[in-house]
Amino acid sequence: MTVEHIDVLIVGAGLSGIGAGHYVQTKCPWATYAIFEARDAIGGTWDLFRYPGIRSDSDMYTLGYSFRPWDGEKAIADGDSILQYIKDTAAETGIDEKIQFNHRIVRADWSTDEARWNITAERTDTGETFEMTCGFMFSCTGYYRYDHGYQPDFAGMDRYAGTVVHPQAWPEDLDYQGKRVVVIGSGSTAMTLIPSMAETAEHVTMLQRSPGYVTSLPDKDPVVDLLRKVLPAHRSGPAIRWFKAVTTQASYNLSRRRPKLMKWLLRKAVQLQLPRGYDVETHFTPKYNPWDQRLCVVPNGDLFKAIKHGTASIVTDRIVTFTEKGLLLESGSELEADIVVSATGLELLFIGGIELSVDGEIVDLPSKLTYKGMMLEGVPNLALAVGYTNASWTLKCDLTCDYVTRLLDHMHRAGLQQCTPRNDDATVIAQPLLGLTSGYVQRSAARFPKQGSKFPWQVHQSYLRDYRALKMRGIEDEAMEFTNPVEHAPVAAAS
Ligand SMILES: Cc1cc2nc3c(=O)[nH]c(=O)nc-3n(C[C@H](O)[C@H](O)[C@H](O)COP(=O)(O)OP(=O)(O)OC[C@H]3O[C@@H](n4cnc5c(N)ncnc54)[C@H](O)[C@@H]3O)c2cc1C
Repeated sequence: MTVEHIDVLIVGAGLSGIGAGHYVQTKCPWATYAIFEARDAIGGTWDLFRYPGIRSDSDMYTLGYSFRPWDGEKAIADGDSILQYIKDTAAETGIDEKIQFNHRIVRADWSTDEARWNITAERTDTGETFEMTCGFMFSCTGYYRYDHGYQPDFAGMDRYAGTVVHPQAWPEDLDYQGKRVVVIGSGSTAMTLIPSMAETAEHVTMLQRSPGYVTSLPDKDPVVDLLRKVLPAHRSGPAIRWFKAVTTQASYNLSRRRPKLMKWLLRKAVQLQLPRGYDVETHFTPKYNPWDQRLCVVPNGDLFKAIKHGTASIVTDRIVTFTEKGLLLESGSELEADIVVSATGLELLFIGGIELSVDGEIVDLPSKLTYKGMMLEGVPNLALAVGYTNASWTLKCDLTCDYVTRLLDHMHRAGLQQCTPRNDDATVIAQPLLGLTSGYVQRSAARFPKQGSKFPWQVHQSYLRDYRALKMRGIEDEAMEFTNPVEHAPVAAAS
């Protein structure tokens, strides 16, 4: 294949990649761009996951794009509606025509002499490898491996006579009607699967090692309905988005400042939805504080309703081994099951596994700080769409896209070709990038870059603070170095 050059290479055609495409084509109309997608479909997460009941667990007003407000009735939407929303967004303005499917980016080497990325990509359908170049790379690759989820090696799995499935590779023809199902795990996926499978299964048991926080939210919000009634459509979308962003942030802040109060409130709310005498202490009272790990949302209390109806139950125990018929637990009891769903989570992966180097030197990710949560120290012309862990992913990605296109435009107008975040402040202390104590975060923390203890290296996990930092401040600061290749004109004064 011939070597091609484009101004901006967007990697990934999921929710973030399509959003990035919108920003590049509307805010930088001068730029040539393409979206390279390893799979043969649009939508990323929302195309990959096909388990029963798949839905968002944050509200769609903030998970949707700011430039195309979610106009659905329900705040918590099903996977198909989210996928359709992404596809419609891509089709409306021709972003879908910019996507190269079955193209995986495997390596990217920045050349300072040429001020461009030398990219190695492979065709996932033919295995062919080819090279190309781009001026700026925008990684919208999500945060986990696509080829498999996290599957612990439980003892005795091979002798189990039933079916074991992982939610990330759900068999299309799996028939669970009238069957006994055990779901291992207590994260969002387990909470989503259980009420949905309980509708037709004989019984669904959620087997958790330890409890997590669960809260029930109505899937429809009366405030949203009111805002839609009193405001014209072009005002209600942004107003609803702000309302949701601010209230979610306020609830998060309350959790961090008054953990005891939040613990009590969450426990009380759970108690009210379960039968009298239910063992809330064992099954719904975590040892950690709210938001040390992600809080699970169940729409309209569907999980609690299934428990009340007796079609679902929770067992808090540890697995000793799989048996022929099910699972033997540390308490000595055995859970019989026709199907075991291993909702044991994802394997995190940074920047879609792309091997990064700068002038031939491999970028050692764990030794790098993130700049404004969206670029990497010492790595030129690379941005990353990484969303929040405590609020909707898109809130941050939208701000990142806006910032990146301002940065690109700034460089274009000033005739600059290279922007590199550099840290010269010895007092900045490196800290883990993600503040969560969850197993899946801890397992991969050593392979991820870090955040710093102060601006602009700190990751705020706060929409309001990021809004100020990314949208209201200028592009230039002490940490961002703008340069041109040696043989080109001297660095122009930035306008
Ligand atoms: C089941 C589930 C439910 C979720 N629910 C919510 C929720 O309610 N709210 C929320 O905020 N977040 C949620 N998330 C997180 C979710 O992943 C994000 O909200 C969002 O969908 C991420 O979009 P993305 O485009 O950044 O990444 P993804 O959806 O992961 O898409 C990344 C794309 O990049 C492609 N890609 C990766 N590497 C390469 C490469 N090297 N070359 C080419 N292409 C590549 C992938 O094939 C994929 O298509 C959920 C996640 C899961 C797994």
